[in-house]
Amino acid sequence: MRTRFAPSPTGPLHLGHAYSVLLAHDMAQAAGGTFLLRIEDIDQSRARPEWEALIYEDLRWLGLDWEAPVMRQSERLPAYRAALETLWSRGLLYPCSCTRRDIQDAVSAPQEGAEPSVGPDGLVYPGTCRPEAPPQGPMPDRAVLRLDMARALSVLDAPLRHEETGRGPGGETGQIAIPGDSLLRAAGDVVLARRDMGTSYHLSVVVDDAEQRVSHVVRGEDLFEATPIHVLLQRLLGFTSPIYHHHRLIRDAAGKRLAKRDDARAIRTYRDEGLTPADIRAKVGL
Ligand code: GLU
Repeated sequence: MRTRFAPSPTGPLHLGHAYSVLLAHDMAQAAGGTFLLRIEDIDQSRARPEWEALIYEDLRWLGLDWEAPVMRQSERLPAYRAALETLWSRGLLYPCSCTRRDIQDAVSAPQEGAEPSVGPDGLVYPGTCRPEAPPQGPMPDRAVLRLDMARALSVLDAPLRHEETGRGPGGETGQIAIPGDSLLRAAGDVVLARRDMGTSYHLSVVVDDAEQRVSHVVRGEDLFEATPIHVLLQRLLGFTSPIYHHHRLIRDAAGKRLAKRDDARAIRTYRDEGLTPADIRAKVGL
């Protein structure tokens, strides 16, 4: 078993992260497996070295250990580029020049009729830039690249499904079918390369889980809706899909899910107040 924790260094880790990382770590340890850490810092406008340093500090304080070296996404751009090239050469990507505003206007145009659909990345793209036939020639640099979802679904040779722990009748791993029409409707032509980053969350996470040979992805249930996109990309890129475990979210007293700016529940704040790692485990119900 190989599990991972994949934080973005854009703020302090809070109780929700503590729950996620302890769960992933404990699962690997109980199975005699390996726990990995990955720093998801592709958004260089938001990532900060001091937040990354605090991640290591908080995790060490919690008593955790991980396999070295730590993977950092900012050092992996050539691998993302190679995956994009694979998809481009299969005719599954196209460049998009729409602004957020263009998309907003297109989906709210009266002739569209149907309610705009909202997926894991926000408004589902109405297809304005989608070409009739796959674009020819070399993949453009510094462009927004979208996945042609309908075309991607049409090249699959078997139905998509995702494996989730705790979903079988006895709490074992169960299979969740991923119908193509729900991917089309709920995700649509997702962005796989952002202009400023040359990649995207979906693409990077899939390429890196494969590179790190992650067998079990343990993460919050807020990412459940992104999993069909990840399983599709794994299939298109020839990767084995990991098993997923989406865990409950830790909420504040008002029932709101914790956010990075929730400094009051930062692990560091609890540390400074004299709590112990055992207190943190108890707080998250472990
Ligand atoms: N980097 C993501 C986050 O901090 C998690 C990615 C994942 O677990 O797939 O929310």
